[in-house]
This record gives sequence, structure tokens and C-alpha cells, in this order.
Amino acid sequence: MHFIEEIQTRLSSYQILINEEDKKSYETDWRGRYQGDSLAVVFPKTIDEVIWTVQCCIKHNIKIVPQSGNTSLCGGSVPITSIPSIIINLSKLNQIREIDLDNNTITVESGVILGQLSDLALKNDRLFPLSMASEGSAQIGGVISTNAGGTAVIRYGTMRALVLGLEVVLPSGELWQGLTGLRKDNTGYDLKQLFIGAEGTLGIITAATLKLLPLPKTKEVYWATTNSVQHTVNVLNHLKKIIGDQICAFEIISSACLQLIKKHFPQLVLPHHEEGDWAILIELDYFNEPQDNHSIFMDCIEKGTVNDVAIAVNEQQRDHFWSIREHIPLAEKREGFSIKHDISLPISSIPQFILEAINEVSKLIPSVGNVCFGHLGDGNLHFNFTNPSQMTKEEFLSLTPTVNQIVYDLVYHFNGSLSAEHGIGQLKVNSLKKYKSQLELSLMQKIKYAIDPTNIMNPGKMLLPNND
Ligand SMILES: Cc1cc2nc3c(=O)[nH]c(=O)nc-3n(C[C@H](O)[C@H](O)[C@H](O)COP(=O)(O)OP(=O)(O)OC[C@H]3O[C@@H](n4cnc5c(N)ncnc54)[C@H](O)[C@@H]3O)c2cc1C
Repeated sequence: MHFIEEIQTRLSSYQILINEEDKKSYETDWRGRYQGDSLAVVFPKTIDEVIWTVQCCIKHNIKIVPQSGNTSLCGGSVPITSIPSIIINLSKLNQIREIDLDNNTITVESGVILGQLSDLALKNDRLFPLSMASEGSAQIGGVISTNAGGTAVIRYGTMRALVLGLEVVLPSGELWQGLTGLRKDNTGYDLKQLFIGAEGTLGIITAATLKLLPLPKTKEVYWATTNSVQHTVNVLNHLKKIIGDQICAFEIISSACLQLIKKHFPQLVLPHHEEGDWAILIELDYFNEPQDNHSIFMDCIEKGTVNDVAIAVNEQQRDHFWSIREHIPLAEKREGFSIKHDISLPISSIPQFILEAINEVSKLIPSVGNVCFGHLGDGNLHFNFTNPSQMTKEEFLSLTPTVNQIVYDLVYHFNGSLSAEHGIGQLKVNSLKKYKSQLELSLMQKIKYAIDPTNIMNPGKMLLPNND
């Protein structure tokens, strides 16, 4: 029997898309940069349906692209046209299996949306701390598979720190039942770690047991401005010394980001800032009575590291400050094409890195613009170059490999990483090969081969086969 016919024997018609128009949005990535063909997009609702679909793909030698919210920024969740594959979209596998308040855990299926999970935690007087601008669409399976970071990593870690157990359908079609709420389990290799951040290349995550945390008593959000990145790093170090573990977020926003917000979202009124200023968005979580941190910021103003500071006086203003930050990727999308980098660096080297990278890229493209923002508190920058008006998109695009090489050479010179939180996907597959050591690549390939010897899971993403 033909593959599609066989799929139709088990899944209902509303669970299978085969029409070109219907499939299109699932085959196109969030940025609209990658578009690949699939034989079908299927939406299993139960674990048995996932297992059955994987077994059917094995039988017909069809590759699988696992997909959740399709907000990947590196082309990880869409197919590659030359590889006959189907998309298994997990969004209908979205049950809350258990909330265990005594043990502070929650077990959910992979299609649960991150924002809904956070809301549910809140309703139960608990915190699920991972927060990012895509939380209204990103789903737990995707968030785990990318080891997502977001704004609160400085305080709570990445997704890896929040996962206790996993359930995974393996490339063999077997189900690995690794759901557990244990905080400690030293019984050999910690298998779940392999699947976290694997970008769907080792199996399909169907459910996860996650940590719930106590809810902070209160929060404070500050918007400060400085006139250099070095001053911003000084402010971070000063805060760490005095109130270290209360810092929940420390975000940096360049002046160019604020200009983009003004242009594309004029309804978002910006707090006071001078042209050229960097903004810092700081969130503090208090588990005890809040302290008076006014004097810390006054101290920074006196020392000249901070120009100006505003504290959000109510929840509405807190949301407003965050909304400005969260609209930056959307404003970039509206502005048009840019050459993007999601990089990680030792925090102390960030000021020098930014200076040198802009300098070097400007030698190649004299009027290039730079849009820089990100989670400075954990050393993660979104460092993007924008298309100068004098250059066509095609001319600018053709310089991407050279710009990437300049940026990544400098990143590695400063002992950084070419992917902080978005992953590798299709976008960075060649760069990974260039910058990762031969030994590391070979170990990764051996793990891939051991779990997925026929390369059925998300081929062409993250890792190229040995001979490519
Ligand atoms: C506006 C915006 C802001 C963002 N901000 C951040 C941020 O602050 N921090 C951050 O880390 N990321 C951020 N991202 C990137 C993205 O949202 C995250 O990578 C997110 O974790 C992806 O989740 P998803 O459900 O959309 O996964 P998808 O995009 O569907 O998939 C991501 C990867 O995981 C694989 N996958 C998906 N589901 C499964 C599954 N069930 N089992 C196995 N593999 C699977 C896919 O094959 C793909 O390789 C942002 C994206 C946008 C659009």
C-alpha cells in the first residue's frame, strides 16, 4: 500500500494535510527563510498514534521532521525538499497529565503551549520560570528540543535545568518511558540529557515531567539607560555583588532596537532615553520582603555608569517595559532582512567583542546597521546586521557567509559559542562543522548513529552525515 494511503487507514482526515496550500504554513519557518516540501503534515493525538506513524515511516523509508510551535529561528522545524519526509506536528498531543504540588512537578504532553503551562503553574501558586517572546506559540516538546533559554536564565537556568523526566518515541518506533519527578537518580547515563537540545534528531518527545518552583513574593522591573556597553557590564557586576540571586533578568537593548520599535510599533511609548543610549531592562524577584534598591541605582548614577533609571510602578508598567523588549524581533521582521547571530560570550569580553565585530563588518559593508539586544546577564547577544539602503537584498544576502565568518571567528577568539539558545537547525549546520572540534563532531555522530542508524529523524538538521 502507498504510504499516504496507509497513514489514512489509521488517522482521521482532519489529522492529515496533503494539499499544497494547507501544508504551506507548516513547511515554512517563522522567519520565512526556509520553505521545504513534505509528503504530508500529520497531527497525532495519542502516543499510540505517534508510535504507529513512526513505524509506518520506517516501513516506507520516509524521514520525519518533528514539529511543535514552528517558531524555530534556524530552520530546524521545517523539511528539506530534497529529502522525502513528513512533518509530525505534536500540537494535538496536549494533555496535562498530572500536577503534583506535594513534589512540585508537572507532567505535560509535548504539545502544551509554554505560556499555558506558565499560567497553569501560576493558578496553582507555583512558578514555571522559562519565559520568552514566543511563549504564546512555542510548545513544550520544541522548547525542550531546543533547550530554550529566554529571559530568566541568569536566575533559573535554561530548559535543561527544568526537565526531570521525558517520554520519547525513538527512531526504532519503541517508546522510552523516562518520566520521573526524582531530583536525584545516579543509575548510569542520564539519558534524558541526550534528547534535550537534540533538535528532533534523536526521537520525538511526547511528554515531560518538569520542575515547579515557589512563586516569588513580588517582582520589580527597572528600565535604565547607559552610554556604553562597558557601563552596562559594570552595572551587572555591581548588582551581582550586592543582590546577586535576586536578579531574574538583565537584558540589554541598543539604541537601534529602540528606533525600530518607534518605527514599527509607535503605539509602544518608550521610556526616556537619549539618542545612542543603551537601555537595560532588569527584573528582580523577591522571595522575602522586597528591599529598597533605590540606593544601588543612585550609586550607579553617581558613579556615572547609569544615566537614568525608571522603576515600573505597577503591573501594567512592568508589562509595558517587557512588551518593548519582546517586540524587538517582530520589529526586525517588519523592517526586512538582516544577517542574524545568536551568540554566547564570556560577559567580560562583550564590550570589546561588539566594538571589534562592528568595526570589522563595517570595513566590508561601510554603511551597515547593527541591531544588538539580548540576555546580557547570561552572556547571550542577538547580534544582527541590517541591510543598508544603498544595497539590494541580493547583494547584502550574498555577503552572509563572509559576515558570519567575521563574527564567528571573533566569537571563538573570545571563547564564545555560535549558538547560545536558538540551536543549529539548517542555518548553522556548516558553521558547526567548522567551529566544533573533530572529536566533538565525531562523538555526536556516534551518538546519532547509535540511536538513529537510518537517519530517519530530522535529517539535514544540526549534524551532517560523516561523509558530507
Ligand atoms: C519572537 C521569537 C522570540 C524568541 N525568543 C527566544 C528566546 O528568548 N529564547 C530561546 O531560546 N528561543 C527563542 N525563540 C526561538 C524559539 O521560540 C524556541 O527555539 C522554541 O523553543 C521553539 O519551540 P517550538 O515549539 O516553536 O519548536 P519548533 O520550532 O516546532 O521546533 C524546534 C526544534 O525542535 C524539534 N522538535 C519540535 N518538537 C519536538 C518534539 N516533540 N520532539 C522532538 N523534537 C521536536 C524540531 O524538529 C526543531 O528542530 C524565539 C522565537 C521567536 C519567533
